Amino acid sequence: GLGVGIVGLPNVGKSTTFNALTKAQNAEAQNYPFCTIEPNKAIVPVPDKRLDELAKIVNPDKIQHSTIDFVDIAGLVRGASKGEGLGNQFLSNIREVEVILHMVRCFEDGNITHVEGDVNPLRDIEIIETELIYADITQLEKKIDRLKKQAKGSKEAAAQLVIAEELYAHICELQPVKTFENKDNEAFISLDKELRFLSNKDVIYGANVDEDTLSTGTNEYVEALKEYAASVNSEVIVLCAKIEEELVGLEDDEAKAFLDDLGVQESGLEQIIQKAFDKLGLQSYFTAGKVEVRAWTIRKNTKAPQAAAVIHNDFEKGFIKAEVISYEDYVKFGGETKCKDAGKLRLEGKDYIVQDGDIMHFRFNV
Ligand code: GDP
Repeated sequence: GLGVGIVGLPNVGKSTTFNALTKAQNAEAQNYPFCTIEPNKAIVPVPDKRLDELAKIVNPDKIQHSTIDFVDIAGLVRGASKGEGLGNQFLSNIREVEVILHMVRCFEDGNITHVEGDVNPLRDIEIIETELIYADITQLEKKIDRLKKQAKGSKEAAAQLVIAEELYAHICELQPVKTFENKDNEAFISLDKELRFLSNKDVIYGANVDEDTLSTGTNEYVEALKEYAASVNSEVIVLCAKIEEELVGLEDDEAKAFLDDLGVQESGLEQIIQKAFDKLGLQSYFTAGKVEVRAWTIRKNTKAPQAAAVIHNDFEKGFIKAEVISYEDYVKFGGETKCKDAGKLRLEGKDYIVQDGDIMHFRFNV
């Protein structure tokens, strides 16, 4: 469930965005020989300029990024929770992911039909988000029926039933699970773990704009979307999906020149990937050697032995110590040996919480 699901109404630019992500995957595919390529899934490298800085110092044969999974969830339309369009199958695909990238059409183009007739981001969002709430209502109704049967014999079920009914009243007002007031309650937490409520997931809004809007940075649709997103504690990333698709194929300096021409600082797609990585609660640590400079993905607050396990299980089992250099020191002093001389290499034990950007070397027993 460590992925991002792309949702949105038809013709808003989901496929175009997903194609750009797939191109980003394929550009690095030789580095990930063990990943099977699935049609609706892209395993996307997370951009990280720190890897390039490390590579300048170490001069490795190759660089390897952290990755995250994006899943294309097409087919969500008005009525999906009642089986319209591709219906329930797609709702269950959303259940699997941890973060939602909600693509919203913020461009006008008379040649491209809008399923609802005109461009209106807030109405579009409401359609999709209402479908997610309906799907949660259906799930919760079934769960409440089961809990009613269990509640007589089980205190735990009885406690869950109380919370489930409170939550039910809340979502029947067409409010998302996200805004339920009792989210710290243990019974709620276990309900959410089991049912994976769709309307409780973190959302990133992708505002798909045309080229002209990209240069000015905003239009009325983007403004409306930003205001809404702020009110629900979410963020908006402005991008032009078509341009992102072109950008992915380019070398770094070409891409930069292309963006400069448009008056844009940073690729929207890269911002989305980075934001998603963060929303997933992930961070990277590095290993730096002649063979490769590599980012490894861990959950925030992971201790050294568990961080080591990401490389190899034996590293955790036989863990002795970790040699750690902060990214800042590594760059400032110019590599491992110089850091050692300057007293900047620390030996850390099994309780050390790995920090974002740490350069790690594990000592372990075999
Ligand atoms: P999906 O149905 O949400 O997957 O939408 P698509 O990605 O297939 O896009 C629908 C149509 O809109 C396609 O013809 C795209 O080429 C076009 N499109 C996507 N992004 C943009 C954009 O930023 N500007 C314009 N003008 N057209 C776009």
